[in-house]
Amino acid sequence: MNKLNLVKQYVLTKYGRRFSSKEELQRFQQQKIKKQLSFVLRHSAFYREFYEDFQNELQENHWESLPIIDKSIMMNHFDDFNTVGIKMKRALEIAFEAERTRDFTAKIADISIGLSSGTSGNRGVFLVSDKEAEMWAGAVLAKLLPGSLIEKQKIAFFLRANNNLYSTTENGRITFQFFDLLDDFSTHIHRLNELKPTIIIAPPSMLRKLAEWQIEDKILIRPIKIVSVAEVLEDLDKRFIEKVFQQTLHQVYQCTEGFLAATCSHGTLHMNEDLVAVQKEYLDEEKGIFVPILTDFTRTTQPIIRYRLNDILIERKAPCPCGSHFLALERIDGRCDDLFYGFKKVGGDVGVLFPDFIRRAIMLASDHILEYKVTQKDLKTIEVKLKVNASSETVKEAVISEITKLWNQNRLVVPDIHFLPYDLIPSDKKRKRIENAMRGHFDGKIV
Ligand SMILES: [Zn+2]
Repeated sequence: MNKLNLVKQYVLTKYGRRFSSKEELQRFQQQKIKKQLSFVLRHSAFYREFYEDFQNELQENHWESLPIIDKSIMMNHFDDFNTVGIKMKRALEIAFEAERTRDFTAKIADISIGLSSGTSGNRGVFLVSDKEAEMWAGAVLAKLLPGSLIEKQKIAFFLRANNNLYSTTENGRITFQFFDLLDDFSTHIHRLNELKPTIIIAPPSMLRKLAEWQIEDKILIRPIKIVSVAEVLEDLDKRFIEKVFQQTLHQVYQCTEGFLAATCSHGTLHMNEDLVAVQKEYLDEEKGIFVPILTDFTRTTQPIIRYRLNDILIERKAPCPCGSHFLALERIDGRCDDLFYGFKKVGGDVGVLFPDFIRRAIMLASDHILEYKVTQKDLKTIEVKLKVNASSETVKEAVISEITKLWNQNRLVVPDIHFLPYDLIPSDKKRKRIENAMRGHFDGKIV
């Protein structure tokens, strides 16, 4: 690994890229994207053809009007899309072999291969060069480490091993231990007590488990920073984890498409607009609910330009006291696939409900809900799993009443609500508290 790339990106991210206004940030992005487009047109046959009828836009650097891509376009044109000549067939062979043997060190030249499981069955294959991985690590450390790079830290990082991207952050003063989410709990407990991490990075379902172990005295750790990754962070879990560890819970929004957002010192999630330009496709402008269109200007192996991500984000209306000009988020709401649907009372069409509405309805219903999971089974059926610290009948009635109110307010036919005991434990599967299980019905499209 070339540490110089890491340190260079670390210094740039932490100290170099301070923007005194939104305009300055936009000028910086314009310049970066211009350079990126010129590279892409030279090296990606896909983009050359895709932009054939957009010569004016390219000339004038009006990248905002270029056509949009998404994961399926990127995968369907994989061979021509990437700029390093890697074929899908070969990449898949290596990725499947790595999954089978759980040895994720195989590469093609200096390119690592990662798989992302698609929600509707469409797997994503992602390519990352060593230089990109080093830059990624530099940016992550700059935004995540509480002190400077030379302070000693012991980091516990819980994630499912699915590529070798994450082994890059090893450094002399930073002890970095990887915890595989597939390992059993007793192994985690033993290793945590041994390591005594100063920083913990894990999905919120795992962090919640850690908080429970801390209460039960199974572990005794005093981290100075805790970071939630990989799953939607619900307020319910955030409050619990913050209370147990007596600190602000931080967040990183990172996916195979890039390092997208991180929390500032005030705990506000800001998009990493020094790495990625973000455009908003509003689903509900008044409420600030949008799908992001990403243009990454740091990655060249699989260049992401005007890429519609399958996530729903909610912008923060109030400015953040930290003074950053990077777009601030209220929350990551979930995947587009997890919108809820219902029959309209009039006309019989189908209407949509955002995960945030469901979340609020559950939270409004009762203070006695410790954990929950709401799943849409079909257009007429909702399943609710609850863990409560009060009479479950009273809580159930309150939940029925809130859900009924929500569906009525949106003029949708109220569904049947089935209750089941709460039985979810953290695992390598992403936990969702709000999930649409009607596979194949709408495929995440907004109707
Ligand atoms: Zn802030």
